Amino acid sequence: MAQFPVEEYKVELFDELGYIRKRCPLCGEYFWTLNPDQETCGEATAEGCAYYTFIGSPPTKKAFSYREMREAFLSFFEERGHKRVKPYPVVARWRDDLLFVHASIIDFQPYVTEGIMPPPANPLVIVQPCMRFVDVDNVGPTFGRHLTAFEMGGHHAFNTPEQEVYWRDETVRFHHEFVTKALGVRDEDVIYKEGVWVGGGNAGPDLETIIGGLEVATLVFMKFKVVNGSFQELPIRTVDTGYGIERFTWLSQGAVSAFHAIYGRELDRLASLIGLELPDPSLLAGPARYSSLMTLKKGIRKSEARARVAKALGMDVEELEELLRPVEAFFAILDHTKCLILMLADGVVPSNVREGYLARLMLRRTYRLLRLLGAEEALMDLIEAQLKLWKRDYERLAESEDYIMEIVALERERYKQTISRGVGLVRRLARELRKSGLKELPEDKLLELYDSHGVPPELAVEVARQEGLVAEVPEDFYARVAERHVSMPLRAREGLPELKEELEGLPPTKLLYYEDAYVREFNAKVLRVLDGRYVVLDRTAFYPEGGGQPADTGRIAYPGGECRVVDARKIGRIVVHVVEGAPPPEGAEVKGILDWERRHDLMRAHTATHIVLGAARRILGKHVWQAGAQKGVERSRLDITHYRHLGLKELQAIERLANQVVRANLPVRTAWMPREEAEARYGFRLYQGGAVPGREIRVVEIPGWDVEACGGTHCSRTGEIGLIKLLKAERIQDGVERLIFAIGEHALRAVQEQEETLSEVASTLNVPLEDVARAARRTVEELKSARRELSRLIRRIADLEVERLLARAEDLAGLKLIRADLGQVSSDYLIEVANRICKQEEKAIVLLFARDKTARFVLKLGPMALRAGLCAAELARELGRVVGGGGSGTEAFAQGGGPKTGEVGRALGLLAELVKRKMA
Ligand SMILES: [Zn+2]
Ligand SMILES: [Zn+2]
Repeated sequence: MAQFPVEEYKVELFDELGYIRKRCPLCGEYFWTLNPDQETCGEATAEGCAYYTFIGSPPTKKAFSYREMREAFLSFFEERGHKRVKPYPVVARWRDDLLFVHASIIDFQPYVTEGIMPPPANPLVIVQPCMRFVDVDNVGPTFGRHLTAFEMGGHHAFNTPEQEVYWRDETVRFHHEFVTKALGVRDEDVIYKEGVWVGGGNAGPDLETIIGGLEVATLVFMKFKVVNGSFQELPIRTVDTGYGIERFTWLSQGAVSAFHAIYGRELDRLASLIGLELPDPSLLAGPARYSSLMTLKKGIRKSEARARVAKALGMDVEELEELLRPVEAFFAILDHTKCLILMLADGVVPSNVREGYLARLMLRRTYRLLRLLGAEEALMDLIEAQLKLWKRDYERLAESEDYIMEIVALERERYKQTISRGVGLVRRLARELRKSGLKELPEDKLLELYDSHGVPPELAVEVARQEGLVAEVPEDFYARVAERHVSMPLRAREGLPELKEELEGLPPTKLLYYEDAYVREFNAKVLRVLDGRYVVLDRTAFYPEGGGQPADTGRIAYPGGECRVVDARKIGRIVVHVVEGAPPPEGAEVKGILDWERRHDLMRAHTATHIVLGAARRILGKHVWQAGAQKGVERSRLDITHYRHLGLKELQAIERLANQVVRANLPVRTAWMPREEAEARYGFRLYQGGAVPGREIRVVEIPGWDVEACGGTHCSRTGEIGLIKLLKAERIQDGVERLIFAIGEHALRAVQEQEETLSEVASTLNVPLEDVARAARRTVEELKSARRELSRLIRRIADLEVERLLARAEDLAGLKLIRADLGQVSSDYLIEVANRICKQEEKAIVLLFARDKTARFVLKLGPMALRAGLCAAELARELGRVVGGGGSGTEAFAQGGGPKTGEVGRALGLLAELVKRKMA
């Protein structure tokens, strides 16, 4: 990575205090220190530049609890002119390029950092819960330096050409004052290390601060945009700082692990829940000092790292491993369960995709670790304890307790099932691989087994080894899996991109449907016609496809002609009408006429979608988010996140509530407002339909019921919808339920169709409508008992038939030939009779015909006939040919048939000849 010139790192404070710049001989990086004897950068890195010196001797004036540290950070900056901003959710609903917030700056990207919207305050301070999954395999062995769920403190300043807030000098001064004055660390214990920060398309120099060997904060000066690998100056320079609240807490306590610092006295109680007795801290202090060596890095295996730690401590590796294995697992369990409850509280539903995938990953990894400790039964107790512990800090936890307990229990059951299926799956795969000459289980198969089938790699490896394959779990397995799922492809934008160039220079289309959704006809001027089928007007009431609402259709009439509008698309800020028929000439004054009935239905459907979503959230819970929606005239669908298939009772409850809102005839208000205002007023539930771009967003509100950022056209009052009928719920993927519904006229029609079906059933059953259910039940019961009776009779008749046929058996070459035409009977009957004969007569050769529109036969051989060398399939082929068809089967049993019912007699005769020929 290219280094910035030294000027980018030099600050006033360094000169004032006498900091000197040095280069670390071990990692090669530049750093600033007050201590002329300081040789290395002082950071406890995997290279071993230094080890933790704060364990057992904290450099701060006092020990801070987790909460105290969070508050100390916030109030320090608050007292220095920063406004305290509430944390954002951990799911980054306002972004479509990221799933989770992994740094405090994410809250303000891209709108604030790109100058699209003003920051909520400037400067500001925030402590933001974050999630980072790329470090998942490090969580535990590094004693809490890495966490998947952590809090990042950030003081941010946004410097625009108009307003300079503060930059490098002040940022470093603030940091230094915080650690020395507020925490009491000595100046000479603070090292600043130079770095280059790149992320999210931005870049800048950064200073990482090291105290006691631990990197506690990063001060980033975001001033570049990365364009094709080169740096361009940004108009807004952002101070992006990250203070690890957990790390600062750890530092101040000098505890043996960050977990000891975070959980304090609760730690032993949590350990006892899983039957673990934690080693005395004095035993852990040594390994803790060297725990930075356990950071997973390319080229160093965990066992080698462990050996290095053991050597440094003068300990036996196996002894060390035995001491630390359960402790590290316990640390990871604590981290993962906290991460999991925070995700779930934010409305994540475990599934196989997107954020749901990572929730499942956390849960399964926790379960596996618990199993390793023989404590998988403690999962629910542990979750409950974590909820109790953390709900003071994260208010959403308290509201979601029941949901979280329910979903964890459900997911645990699902996981158990997956595991039992997985064993068979891996066994089959392993055998196939071995057959094809492979001797080991490839890593991509391991990934695939986990990704597509949920089989944990440890299990896959165990089973593969039993099958004689070489197999191993890569040490960074979970990080690699997570990496495949943390970022996501941008949603494809709708449009006709090939027209983009031709539209350049045209003014934005005036959107009449936003001024008044009820405009059915309008006058406009033709600005451009492309390819004889794309028409651009100066203004339009045709809604272009977007947000799951289909484009309007209609006509464009002009002097001397008319054409159909079959589609409308928005490209940039221009609406393009796709027409059929002769388009109007450029410059013409035209009249646009919408297919109003259709459009009005789409408006009703769209408003109904918002209403149903609001009802689903109230009936099912706050974890319900819109996962997709498609409005239609006849039918609309709304996909919601939910963890199990909906039953009729739940569906009816949602339907009842939705129709109450329809009858209440509430107003539907739409308003454009600045993004920050909308977010402040309504929160992030605005982004139900996904992130929306732009400085100003359009907010559609049904007061007291639902509010969403939405670009669609809506009714002015809910009563206009008339009726909402939920037709069914389908499970379209794990964690997502699809609700299909109809509105107004179409809802009525759907109800009437169901009624017609019902009345047809009633007339078939010959009962009045209200008796249908009882009559149907009775009919089914009667049918069942009739079937029972029938099969009893068949058995009795078959007995008689068998007796009759055996009595008529013909002797043939030491065997018994039994052949008959039984007329109109079922094939099952033929088989039943043939089976019974062969059971009683081992010399039997049985050929039985049934006859209705075609001729069918079964041919069965007793054991003696088989031993004599006869083959049923062979005989059946020839017999089938006689009746104009064929036959097939096995040696002992065959079936066949053909259309020539008149030839049955000849076929029966032929059998004797065939057998004689064979036996001769
Ligand atoms: Zn170094
Ligand atoms: Zn909408």
